Amino acid sequence: MFNTFIANSMPYMPKAMVGFFAKRYVAGALPEDAFSMTKALNAEGAMGTIDLLGEFTDDINKAKQTVEMYKLVLDNIEKQKLNTNISIKPSAFGILFNEETSTKFMTEVISYAHSKGIFVRIDMENHPYTDYTIDLYLTLSREMPKSCGTVLQACLKRTIDDIKHIADSTEQANIRLCKGIYKEPDEIAYNNRKKVQDNFLECLELLFQKKAYVGIATHDDVLVNGAMELIKKYKLEKHEYEFQMLLGVRSELRKRLLADGHRLRIYTPFGEDWLPYSIRRLKENPAIVGSAIKGILTG
Ligand code: FAD
Repeated sequence: MFNTFIANSMPYMPKAMVGFFAKRYVAGALPEDAFSMTKALNAEGAMGTIDLLGEFTDDINKAKQTVEMYKLVLDNIEKQKLNTNISIKPSAFGILFNEETSTKFMTEVISYAHSKGIFVRIDMENHPYTDYTIDLYLTLSREMPKSCGTVLQACLKRTIDDIKHIADSTEQANIRLCKGIYKEPDEIAYNNRKKVQDNFLECLELLFQKKAYVGIATHDDVLVNGAMELIKKYKLEKHEYEFQMLLGVRSELRKRLLADGHRLRIYTPFGEDWLPYSIRRLKENPAIVGSAIKGILTG
């Protein structure tokens, strides 16, 4: 109950206080912070995916700045030979403004990345944007093969059908599979932990059957163990899938996966707009804040 109270209070906490707990989840405010974090991850044997924070913007100038910042990131990935790709969100490119704007800006970033041989992951946001995101991924990966991939969420009831549709529409799908972070209505989503886990493994099996390249994005032992069994069942080689984790989460799992020789990619966000992302992460695990506050209160 204490943790639920903490989770619900998060949006009302002073920014500095959230920042104190959220530091672990973000590389820093500047692009250089993301580059040095990526270097450190690469030295550990992990790959990266760099994400510029800042989402749901209705300011066209901010969306333009996002394009320019991603180009700077891509230039540096190339120059500094970083082993990382990038992740982008439709809502950071002005989808709230209109779809044409976000499509134009995202296409610009993906084309720029493609010219440098750098892969782009189009993150999945909440359900009003699912169709848009899948369509954009299919269109751009047809125009620029292997330039981009997208994300599917196991919490959504539609995901199994989306996998079939994507597999029928592209030569080799490139999908990050995750549980899904957004609170979605019961009519369209499983809002029960066990059902989401079951659907995750069902979706993962179908993706493997369809020969997709999958980023298995989870820190949940049930899903990591289930994925290992499927990897064995389908006799996949290490280069035919990867695990993905968030910066700041379960470093012992990260070390174990790397020690066992799996490909592992760490989601590495940076930017001034760290607050909404950090609140989402802390709400996922309010125990982090809860135990620190309990410690302060009890001395
Ligand atoms: P959980 O049951 O939430 O976590 C398992 C265990 O991991 C917890 O018991 C805890 O020990 C630890 N843990 C999990 N989260 C935290 C945390 N924040 N702080 C500390 N410990 C934690 N969602 C989307 O909707 N769209 C996306 O595009 C998207 N991209 C993602 C990219 C990556 C690389 C990853 C790893 C996740 C992404 N997510 C995305 C988020 C995802 O949907 C889940 O919300 C998130 O991964 C938590 O689910 P879990 O499978 O790790 O299971």
